[in-house]
Amino acid sequence: MSTHELSRTQGLFARLVDAPTFAAMEAHSRAWLVRCLNCSHARSIWALGGIRYKAAGNALTRMKCPSCGKTGAHRLEKAENFPVTNVPTGSLWRAIILVTLVTMLVLGGLVLLILWAAGVF
Ligand SMILES: [Zn+2]
Repeated sequence: MSTHELSRTQGLFARLVDAPTFAAMEAHSRAWLVRCLNCSHARSIWALGGIRYKAAGNALTRMKCPSCGKTGAHRLEKAENFPVTNVPTGSLWRAIILVTLVTMLVLGGLVLLILWAAGVF
């Protein structure tokens, strides 16, 4: 899959993790399905522009179904052909730590800006 077809989230991880890790993330995300509980229409997380990797559980989420047109409950579920991958997670952890640090720095900067604007210092 070329980069221009990726969502913003997918593109971010494509730049942050190594190729084998990103390939595993894509394979998992394509095999995680969002199924409409009204009509059973299913789409992959990947097709929705998302990423679901190293995850478990069948969470419920609320969204509009393109098949029956109703906004209602959708269940996250694994496809029957869910891939078995064994990719080292070092690259993924580095990406998560980097994103967390950048987010904390941006939030910290915003807090300092607000305190400065409020005349605290
Ligand atoms: Zn539906």
